[in-house]
Amino acid sequence: ALRARMEERLLGARFRCLNQQLYTGSSRDAARLFRADPAAFHLYHQGFERQVRRWPERPVQRIVRYLRRRPASLVVADFGCGDCTLATSVKNQVHCFDLVPLSPRVTVCDMAEVPLAAESVDVAVFCLALMGTNLQEILGEANRVLRLGGTLMVAEVASRFEDTSAFLKAMTQLGFRTVSKDFSSSYFYLLEFAKTGPPRASPAPGLRLRPCLYKRR
Ligand code: SAH
Repeated sequence: ALRARMEERLLGARFRCLNQQLYTGSSRDAARLFRADPAAFHLYHQGFERQVRRWPERPVQRIVRYLRRRPASLVVADFGCGDCTLATSVKNQVHCFDLVPLSPRVTVCDMAEVPLAAESVDVAVFCLALMGTNLQEILGEANRVLRLGGTLMVAEVASRFEDTSAFLKAMTQLGFRTVSKDFSSSYFYLLEFAKTGPPRASPAPGLRLRPCLYKRR
């Protein structure tokens, strides 16, 4: 029992360390990290699963419900798809991107550079996946692949937002109009945007999210 407890502690500590690395480096650093150590990725995912299992509702389920209300003909890109829950829960064509394949459906790549043609998708999704510090570049990539008027869905941990209105204002500079914001869960925010055009060149200062650091339990 002691040994099991010690192992559990060690896994928890490694998860928190990996998690911190992912939130404090760029998406490219994350790609490098997991390429060098695929075992770290699996450990990260075990830890992630354990965290979200404590939540009353998984944000991805909200996105599933949203997509089911819209035409199944819409083409979706899931940035940081994890185990592909989204793709397996809807009829839509879903392009799944992540750093290591947890499922054969995953295309392995850095989300800042996905192998899709410009303006080829109707809905881009980031479900707890805006981890890298290069947010502007990552969201710029979503803008590139989205058709004009296309939808961007963001589900993020509520405590990551420092200044939500500054964040939404910055999003307009990146070519996204806010369509709806749902703050009803105390765990995560669900934001829906529509692409209004290409990003403006000027930097968007309010585009900041705090790292999501888990406490030792
Ligand atoms: N969207 C899924 C998984 C969220 S966990 C869900 O809601 O269940 C965040 C995911 O983003 C992880 O699978 C992680 O590997 C992935 N990710 C983090 N940085 C990434 C990057 N630079 N490129 C692609 N995927 C990334």
